[in-house]
Amino acid sequence: MGRTTRALISRSALAHNLARVREAAPGARVMAVVKADGYGHGLGEVAAVLAGADAFAVSCLAEALALRAAGVRAPVVALQGFGNSAEIAALAEARVEAVVHAAWQLEALAQADPGRPLRVWLKIDTGMGRLGFPPADAPAAWRALRACPAVTGEIRLMTHMANADDPDDGATAAQLARFRAATEGLAGERSLANSGALLAFPESQAEWVRPGIMLYGISPFGTRSAGSLGLRPAMRLETRLIAVNRRGAGDRVGYGGEWVCPEPMAVGVAAVGYGDGYPRHAPAGTPVRVAGREVPLIGRVSMDLITLDLRAAPQAAPGDPVLLWGEDLAVERIAAAAGTIAYELVCAVAGRVERLTVD
Ligand SMILES: *Cc1c(COP(=O)(O)O)cnc(C)c1O
Repeated sequence: MGRTTRALISRSALAHNLARVREAAPGARVMAVVKADGYGHGLGEVAAVLAGADAFAVSCLAEALALRAAGVRAPVVALQGFGNSAEIAALAEARVEAVVHAAWQLEALAQADPGRPLRVWLKIDTGMGRLGFPPADAPAAWRALRACPAVTGEIRLMTHMANADDPDDGATAAQLARFRAATEGLAGERSLANSGALLAFPESQAEWVRPGIMLYGISPFGTRSAGSLGLRPAMRLETRLIAVNRRGAGDRVGYGGEWVCPEPMAVGVAAVGYGDGYPRHAPAGTPVRVAGREVPLIGRVSMDLITLDLRAAPQAAPGDPVLLWGEDLAVERIAAAAGTIAYELVCAVAGRVERLTVD
């Protein structure tokens, strides 16, 4: 038997979500973030469906080259820039724009002779505490880039929001103010907003927005559903029941035998596990849909299999479809049950899971 676990990727949902970005940020150009294999949805397919985006963002050179290999001719931005001097020429050659976030990168650029000059974004750390120049160093870094022969075009300016997933958190407004002050008087287009910021803080939109998660139909906010934001989930992770077993009261289910049948009952076995990217920490009670009904996961998630309490789905039989997440079962719910975020779940869908682009 071949594996029946599949991730169906909806073209119409991706296209709808891009339209939703345009509607929410009508004055901005859209840099669609497709790092990590299009958040696990498949880089080439996602980029093809989102061809209407004004640019794409990936993490690094390798992902940028994969986009070029997939035939993408639009502007591509490498969010981590170059990892060493050798990558400067490779980025320039592939016409990939580099984020410059550290002093060592400025020095490497000053010594570089890439043949073809590089387009760059200057990243300022306004409160994320991760990548970027301190605000006070931004003007000097901007001038150094302007003077650098290896750099071409206007210097664009960017920062990244640490708390935009919480619309009530004052940290985002503080970051916006710090960015404004640090970049005052510096020419160049600006980009600040990830999905959360572009939806909850429209004043962050500037010339370019950088949505990722919302393009895939997932809410960036802990407290608001994707549907309430007008988004449609793009991934449907599904498998099938491969066994339905009658168990007696006191029978144990799965590794460790932690789950014990309280009464005689049907236990379903579905062909998906952490080897496919289903989270091993999903506890008993995590919702799964079997033949259109929600039933609880029971027992530990194993590498290839999960076990299900079928008392709410007495007609369920081997071969029935099993939905792990998708339009009818928000991946955000599974993430909450497993103590993680939906970003991680979609990114973790394993290579052995067949991806099919549909509708
Ligand atoms: C991943 C990423 C984004 C997209 O964030 P979402 O929350 O997925 O919208 C934007 N900008 C940078 C720098 C990123 O790393």
